Amino acid sequence: MNDTAHIRVDGQRLWNSIMAIGEIGPGQHGGSCRLALTDEDRDGRDLFIRWCEEIGCSISIDDMGNIFARRDGRNNDLAPIVAGSHLDTQPHGGKFDGIYGVLAALEAVRTLHDNKVTTEAPVEIVVWTNEEGSRFAPAMIASGVYAGLFEKESAWGITDSDGNSLGDELKRIGYMGAMSCGNNPIGALLEAHIEQGPILEADNHQIGVVVGGQGQHWYDVTIKGQDSHAGSTPMLGRRDALVAAAEIITMVQNLALDFAPQAVSTVGEMSVMPNSRNTIPGEVFFTIDIRNPDENVLAQMAAQLESRVAAIVDKHGVECELVEIWDKAPVKFDPDCIAAVAEATAALGYSNQQMVSGAGHDACQVCLVAPTSMIFVPCAGGLSHNEQESAEPADLEAGCNVLLHAMLKLANRTNG
Ligand SMILES: [Zn+2]
Repeated sequence: MNDTAHIRVDGQRLWNSIMAIGEIGPGQHGGSCRLALTDEDRDGRDLFIRWCEEIGCSISIDDMGNIFARRDGRNNDLAPIVAGSHLDTQPHGGKFDGIYGVLAALEAVRTLHDNKVTTEAPVEIVVWTNEEGSRFAPAMIASGVYAGLFEKESAWGITDSDGNSLGDELKRIGYMGAMSCGNNPIGALLEAHIEQGPILEADNHQIGVVVGGQGQHWYDVTIKGQDSHAGSTPMLGRRDALVAAAEIITMVQNLALDFAPQAVSTVGEMSVMPNSRNTIPGEVFFTIDIRNPDENVLAQMAAQLESRVAAIVDKHGVECELVEIWDKAPVKFDPDCIAAVAEATAALGYSNQQMVSGAGHDACQVCLVAPTSMIFVPCAGGLSHNEQESAEPADLEAGCNVLLHAMLKLANRTNG
């Protein structure tokens, strides 16, 4: 057995690789624009594959364009230990969201290669297609197909704003692979990612040991009152749908505060009818998004939301349709994968905390079909989906060392 406890990644090489990919589809303000399945995305993928082949990895691509770069182990009948994330970006994206997880996995495998380490199970680096959902909605579509959440044929049919389909664009850039998406096994999946929130930075911790992701409920709300003249209708007896909606919006904010610190809630979209300055609004449509990592607490929030909406509607003499259009149960990551990350972090001596992911990630899809967990590192000001997104090289290196040693732990666990 190799003695691997002492090996460390090359933080400078990791940084240089992140900067090199960032130059493909450069943004105006220091970030990147590599929308899924554009020429820029293809160029980023091509460079990634070249780097993997330089260290002897074999490449498989599935028919959703997901790339798996494999480094054989001693026992290649074992399902591989997989690490990675995505290379596509938002239109005004940063250099780190997703890219870090792919290149941290590459750096971990480069380190195995440099140190001539043979793992028991094979290891693979994965690039998931169209994580961002910016060009082709919804987000995380290819990891979703892998996890059986979406039909492949309907995913291929999704079009961008110019009418180009995802399937045609996969073929155009040469990334419609031969392997059927979801057919290759994953023994465990680890995804390193910038936090995209302010918690690690505020708590001055270098590593987030991610134990799961939030559950969420989405609602469509329509309030119906009565249109009437803004000048001649007395204040008493009005049925103003917008005033009722305003009270509900404030209530939605208070609902999350009542379930602090982990609950969040948002009204993000609204339309007012007839939207005329001298008519009392007779109808208002808006959306509600509530999230919590605990299934029971989320259910309590949903129950409270319904009763509080009913009370407000009653007070204002308006009618209300509150329709839950989508819900997602909280994600719980795999105990063995979480333990591998926690033990690696402790052995390396990095300051850390357990946390849940506020955002969705490919790992939150794949965890339905394979043991999975995530590693977070801080990003400046918690800012992401922004060209100013940035992270400290030392933190990126720390997260990469944790990834390397968690991968080793999982890939060698059959050694006993
Ligand atoms: Zn991401």
